[in-house]
Parts: sequence; C-alpha cells; structure tokens
Amino acid sequence: MGSVERIKRVADRLIRKVNEGEQVVVVVSAMGKTTDHLMSLAKEITDRPSKRELDMLLSTGEQQTIALLAMEMERRGQAAISLTGWQAGITTENVYGNARIEAIHTEPILDYLNTGHVVIVAGFQGITQDHEITTLGRGGSDTSAVALAAALKATLCEIYTDVDGVYTTDPRVVKTARKLKEISYDEMLEMAYLGAGVLHPRAVENAKKFHVPLTVRSSFSDEPGTIIKGEAQLEKGLAVRGLAFERDVVKVTLLGLPNDLTTLSSVFQVLADSKVNVDIIIQNALDDQETSISFTLSEEALNDALDVLNNHKAALKFRELNVEGNLAKVSIVGSGMVSNPGVAATMFKTLNEEGIKVKMVSTSEIKVSTIISIEQLTGALQALHSAFHLEEVKPLSTVE
Ligand code: ASP
Ligand code: MG
Repeated sequence: MGSVERIKRVADRLIRKVNEGEQVVVVVSAMGKTTDHLMSLAKEITDRPSKRELDMLLSTGEQQTIALLAMEMERRGQAAISLTGWQAGITTENVYGNARIEAIHTEPILDYLNTGHVVIVAGFQGITQDHEITTLGRGGSDTSAVALAAALKATLCEIYTDVDGVYTTDPRVVKTARKLKEISYDEMLEMAYLGAGVLHPRAVENAKKFHVPLTVRSSFSDEPGTIIKGEAQLEKGLAVRGLAFERDVVKVTLLGLPNDLTTLSSVFQVLADSKVNVDIIIQNALDDQETSISFTLSEEALNDALDVLNNHKAALKFRELNVEGNLAKVSIVGSGMVSNPGVAATMFKTLNEEGIKVKMVSTSEIKVSTIISIEQLTGALQALHSAFHLEEVKPLSTVE
C-alpha cells in the first residue's frame, strides 16, 4: 500500500475477486514507510516513549489505508466498509507493542459480508478487554490476516507483499538465492523467527495451528508466489531449505552468579516478568560456587533487559554484567535435517574455512543457528548458500 496509486491497484484486485464470486475480507497495513515515520516522530520527543501512547500513534497508519481503500471501492460502485481492529472484533492480551490476539468476534464482519460488502480491516491492531488499543508487533498485519482467516474459516489466506515469495535466503545479500514454490509451516516458522522478514512469525504459527492455507505473493504481479502448507515436497538429497539471518543481535553475560539450583530460573523469570524475549542461552559453571550465564536478544530489547537486571542485581547476586554488540545470527533451516546427519558439521566446517568464528550455537530438529560477528554476515551467507547447494540443486518440484 505504498501510495494512492497502489491502493487503486489493490481495489482492482479486490473487484476481480468479487466478480469471481468470492466474499472478500482484506486486511491492510499502513502506507509505505508510514509506521517508520510515526515511530521517528515519537523518537523526536523521547527515546523511550510510553508503550501505550506508541500503540495509539502507530495504529493510526492502518486507519488511513482502510479508509482510503474503502473510499476507492465505493467510488467504483462496490459496497465496502472499513473497520478498525476493535470494530472488527479483534481482542488482544493486555500488552502494548507486541500483543497476541486472544479472540475474534466475527459477527460484525459476517454481517457486512452477508450484505454484500467487501470488508476492509486495519491490520496490526486490536483492543484489550479494558478497551485499550494495542499493536501486534512490527509486520503484524500478516498475523491479523491469518487470525481472521482462521476465525472466518476462509478457504485461503493470500499475503500480498513487496517480494514475490519466500526465497532460499535474502536475494539482496546472496544473488543466487531462489524463490521456493513450497515450504512447510514448520520450516517457514523457523525462517520467520530466525529473521526472514517476509512473514510475521506469529502469522505462520497461527496458520499452522488452524491449518490456514497460506500463500505469499507479490502485490505487483500475478506470479503464483510461495505456498506454505503442512508438508512441502522435499527435494532429493536436500537437507537445507533455506538460510535465515538476523542483524542487531546483542549478547549479555552475567558473571559471578551463585551456582545453585535456582539461579537460572530466577534470572529468566525476572526477564520474562518484564516481557523481555531472550534467544540463545548458555550457562557455564566455573566450579561449585560460581556460574555465568550468557544470552542473546535483539538490540531493541536491550534497554529493558538491562533495566530489569540492574534492578534485581541484589536479588540475583551477579558480580558483573557485560554486553557484546555487533553480532548476527545465521541459521540453516530444513525439515530434511532430521534424516540427514552431518548437516551441522558441514555448517561449522564451511564457516571455519571462511575464517568465521562461531560464538554461540543453538539447534532444533530442523535448524542450526550460530552467532557470529556482523561484519562476517554476508560472507557466511554466501558460503553456506553454496555449501548446501541452494542455488543449483535440481528440483523435484520445490525450487524454481
Ligand atoms: N504497519 C505495521 C508495520 O509497519 C504493520 C505491518 O506492516 O504489517 O510494522
Ligand atoms: Mg509486512
């Protein structure tokens, strides 16, 4: 939804769908860089704006686009109505900035659909039981769309975006990256959580949970895009489906903690109580007395983490707190890993040959993540993409 011109193109597509006999609910996000712009206005006032007021502000971006799109639909003679999150019955938990949807009361939307309207819903926002406006986290319109698709039992949820599908990795970084025809929910979930910006992770989570058929396609063309579903066809001998990465990773280390049973749980409980999301965790016991804990988190969450840890310094009894920035996370993802031993070994060997030091590792059945220095990110991705033959594999049908 970059401009009014783009809004008109969206209207074209919607009218085509209606003419094909579909009932359509469309979730829109804000125009172009509107959300970033609103965010920078807030930052001009303070570095740490109140989370409530930030949600109040950011939610206005979507409110502009729903109204403009509805006007355009009406101008074309198509009945349409714009609804904010609360008008569309989307209720969330009581958390600003990253709220989860708790329920969707579908009656208002169904009523409008049944009277021939195209229903245009503001993405990225909802309302708490106390009538507070919340947002779902950056990129959250995807999650609004999937949640609505699930609640309305839609036959299909199509995400139109500025890329034409899900790629083996970011083509801006690795030129030989290729578009995937299919990817499984689980793989997509890992890719999304691991930083592939194309879909909001919670959108994939909900799609998987409620079996919502999902496609990602370009809003600029009629290309088919990537299908995300329960089981994607595996390519022969291919253990890795894609590479994901994240910049802005920070590592926090607490030194000189007492080595007793409750240390680990106390540290992460205080962080959890303040809704600080941590990622990779390593504990290193020095001896019976003393232990240290390192964990990674996003740069954005660092201030909150430092505040809460320093506020609990006496109770947690750590001696020293260190922060290491300028890190990146690089992950390989693929459900084929389960049945192909040696994938992690290949990853470490490849990084090793590039002279890249791996600082932390975490694994699951279908992914291996490493923390490296951000300067080495591009080199790491290029080397891994070719080591796992992501550009050249002869597809059965999965890669095009
Ligand atoms: N406008 C919001 C954002 O920029 C939500 C979205 O685009 O999905 O993050
Ligand atoms: Mg998006």
